[in-house]
Amino acid sequence: MIIQIAKDISKKDKDQLIEKLNHIQYKGNEVHTQFGNYMIAVGKKEFDIRAVGTLPGVIDIHRVSDNYKLVSKKWKVNDTVIDLGDGVTIGADDIALMAGPCSIESEEQIESTILHLKEIGIKIMRGGVYKPRSSPYSFRGLGMDGLRLWHEAAKRHSIKIITEVMMVEQIDEMLPYVDIFQVGARNSQNFNLLDALGKIDKPILLKRGISGTIEELLQGAEYIFSNGNEKIMLCERGIRSYETAYRNTFDINSIAILKEKSHLPVIADPSHGVGIRQYVEPVALASILAGADGVIAEVHTVPEKAFSDGQQTLDYGQSKNLFNKLRMTWELKKEMDRM
Ligand code: PEP
Ligand code: MN
Repeated sequence: MIIQIAKDISKKDKDQLIEKLNHIQYKGNEVHTQFGNYMIAVGKKEFDIRAVGTLPGVIDIHRVSDNYKLVSKKWKVNDTVIDLGDGVTIGADDIALMAGPCSIESEEQIESTILHLKEIGIKIMRGGVYKPRSSPYSFRGLGMDGLRLWHEAAKRHSIKIITEVMMVEQIDEMLPYVDIFQVGARNSQNFNLLDALGKIDKPILLKRGISGTIEELLQGAEYIFSNGNEKIMLCERGIRSYETAYRNTFDINSIAILKEKSHLPVIADPSHGVGIRQYVEPVALASILAGADGVIAEVHTVPEKAFSDGQQTLDYGQSKNLFNKLRMTWELKKEMDRM
């Protein structure tokens, strides 16, 4: 049960609400976010919802029986729109597009990528400075030096930065340079990290775990929200399956299901989702038709020379082509939604 409470609820009214919840054997958890105050009440007993809904200081009350609550569409019917400033929004009327290399490699690569993104009208650049790699001997990122370099160039060109944070300890240092924090597949259920990201006021893109279920992804998002941060995007990036013809199985089903179950924007990552360059485009286009709010894709000047994930990375020509087609697909989807 989600009880929306007034920001200025008096102590007396709050005590009365808690007492009422105790009486019906519900445990209340208070949540304060950038946008509202809530009491998340968990219990089993059937009761008349009006007995709580009419208490002073209560704005609204919703029964949500799922394990995840605040990220559910059952109480918030309108889709969440995330405002990054400077006219860049996610989850609104326009398709959200993000592109860039798997890893930030050098100043030249940053400049070249930014020029490409500007040419094709993309305002959010992706890139890893802390890289989770299967082998400890692979390139693991330029760290804070790379991020500072990148931020300096991005700011000059009014480009937003999305990058992965791997540890709680990295958050504070990264904070001034990052517009969206990415939580990678390997950290999708790192609950300490999710708790900490819930306490900051920066958008989070939460990727689905390599073997994570849709419900686990939503519960991960609930960790962030219940700590106070409502600015969350869900990201389908493929899951591990028995299939060996490609890197991961992009779960197109999850896009439609997440859009139905949650009010949060859903972003598709076809690069990791399929893991082979030539299939990135068809998977990306399909994700828009399935209802994704946007796409994040890996692009590089010379993909064959990329420090990581070159095999799934598009060159600039392929990237231009893909994003053109994505915009066309977006218009087609909107037209179909109106039918
Ligand atoms: C990435 O975005 O480069 C990345 C490592 O993603 P994932 O966590 O989905 O593997
Ligand atoms: Mn990658």
